[in-house]
Amino acid sequence: MTSFDTLMQQARACVDDRRLERVRAWKQENPGALAIGHMPIYTPRPLLEALGCLPVAVFGGGDQVDVIRGDAYFQSYICHIPRSTIELALGGELEPLDGMVFPAICDVIRNLGGMWKLLFPEKWSAYLDLPQNFDRRLGGAFYAGELRRFARELEARGARPLDEVRLRAAIADENARRATIDELDVLRRDEPHRLRASEAYLAVRAGSAMTAAEHTAFLREVLVAARERQTRKLDNVRVVVVGSFCEQPPLDLIITLERAGCDIVADDMQLGMRMIEGAIDAPSAGRDSVDALADAYLDRGAATASRYIGELVKGRALIDRVRAVRAEGVVFAAASFCDPALLDQPMLEAALQREGIAFTTLKYAENTGQFQTIREQAGAFSDSVKLWGGAA
Ligand code: SF4
Repeated sequence: MTSFDTLMQQARACVDDRRLERVRAWKQENPGALAIGHMPIYTPRPLLEALGCLPVAVFGGGDQVDVIRGDAYFQSYICHIPRSTIELALGGELEPLDGMVFPAICDVIRNLGGMWKLLFPEKWSAYLDLPQNFDRRLGGAFYAGELRRFARELEARGARPLDEVRLRAAIADENARRATIDELDVLRRDEPHRLRASEAYLAVRAGSAMTAAEHTAFLREVLVAARERQTRKLDNVRVVVVGSFCEQPPLDLIITLERAGCDIVADDMQLGMRMIEGAIDAPSAGRDSVDALADAYLDRGAATASRYIGELVKGRALIDRVRAVRAEGVVFAAASFCDPALLDQPMLEAALQREGIAFTTLKYAENTGQFQTIREQAGAFSDSVKLWGGAA
């Protein structure tokens, strides 16, 4: 059995693979096959796999990139991820990618998609309009139509033709990955000392440039090793972290929250990997697996800021989550200038206040390097929850 520490080192190497060496190696092993990058929040990776493409989740430059040229393409009062993504692309680090998907989440990603087209006109790119109408005949038909258009465009670039058998197999692989991530989540919910949030984060993110089958095998190794490892329980406060679904917090920020006395028992980081809650069902009679992908998004897409949720139920999913994972508080952690997260937050805070659930709020940029203030704030929060329970 590979040791837990070794697996974490492997995961870290994948996460730090800024030059996409894994993708370059995959393309050498699969001559002619396409690697397609995608920004957060959600892109249906099984569709890309069924077309013989390698889906590659792109999360910007994190804290590894000094943004110099990327700043020239965007105004100053927006988040960091588009600048560092452009910086990486201009530096040639994203060169192995034959295309990019920009899923609809906010105007910034829309602008990034437009900038991409101007800068790299020879590369395939697409804006994926995720539906906000959840009627199968309207939003569902539109979304399935968009996925079929992607498939046609990628076929024209050399991808395999879309094939029902291959798509079913890719969906089955994705379901297996999703179920394994669920197991990871259950372990850190029930025994957070065995699998810290920062470790689960690395394990999930390691799969950014893996096929679903390869990632599932890796996650299973992590699960086995985590269950076996010797660790001691900590007297921490159980929290849910909300707002980190797109630009990711630096890993050291997650570790800082843990060191400040928080067991992060649920979060929305890398939400794209768990956007569909549960398995994608087989298509119903008269429909195909593209329809099944669309139906899964309509029916079981996670409640998040980029998805329309009626105001009367805004916050309900968060309250349910807090209860389900037996959390004692919520940490709102959003990227600075992240409109979707920050516009949602007051409504979520109001929902928590109605329920008497404690929360605190912080902001970060992917390249934040100083965590002392965050540590003090999170430490004070965890102490206050311990002393006074649900006081907000
Ligand atoms: S971090 Fe927020 S504002 Fe920035 S691109 Fe992502 S969703 Fe949009």
